[in-house]
Amino acid sequence: MFITKTFISTSIALALACLSLPSTSSASPLEGLATRSPKVKVYHTCSVSGSAALTFDDGPYKWHDQLVNELNKKGAKGSFFLNGNNYGCIYDYAEQIRDTYNSGHLLGSHTWSHADITQLSRRDLHTELSKVETAFKKILGVKPLYFRPPFGNINTEAREVLAERGYQGAFLWDQDSGDSVGKSISYSDKIYRKTSNTFPTPHLVLNHETYKTTVKDVVPQALPELQRQGYSLVTATECLDLGDDSGSWYEHVGGREERNDSWQC
Ligand SMILES: [Zn+2]
Repeated sequence: MFITKTFISTSIALALACLSLPSTSSASPLEGLATRSPKVKVYHTCSVSGSAALTFDDGPYKWHDQLVNELNKKGAKGSFFLNGNNYGCIYDYAEQIRDTYNSGHLLGSHTWSHADITQLSRRDLHTELSKVETAFKKILGVKPLYFRPPFGNINTEAREVLAERGYQGAFLWDQDSGDSVGKSISYSDKIYRKTSNTFPTPHLVLNHETYKTTVKDVVPQALPELQRQGYSLVTATECLDLGDDSGSWYEHVGGREERNDSWQC
């Protein structure tokens, strides 16, 4: 009797499993593929209460050190989304990048040439990402796992390519300091000063390390102002609870090198 019951229930389970198959295969083959392809997650804001993440794009560039020193002095962490060859060549800033990495700031990819990734073929996007990954490997011995899309442009195809390459997240932002579109220092100051009254909290702020005023004027004022408001200034990964151990922000691949002839932009 027991055996019969078991047999019957097993048969029912198998029958149900078979019945469930057509429901997943009823979509067209292309739709099925789109649904199954993993896509990188896109984040627009922080989730950890009381945290803020200042992010800096388009570097490395000549004020990188000064910016990192300013963050270190204030006990704040920053997130840097680096290009390979934009304002500067990534290989020319290897020592600065190593210092930034060792100080516990987040380093992510922003493509090799600051390309609009929604305009690239899959192959060209792979190349844009691969060249930055190679530079990270040579300089740091790691592969970046976090990404910011240039111009904030990202689509399904790009999210699939990022997921294929192992990326864990793409960060957008909820506040823009406006430095890249020529906003004044006082405009950027307001973004930070008014945070507690005007803007949703916590937040993820877009800045660029390639503007002198951002590095020399805006950030030195913003850091103490945000701290006065009670914010904890952390990396984008920490403000989203994606890991407070920097070991999880990268894939450790080894192969860190001393400068050689292959370090070319
Ligand atoms: Zn950019």
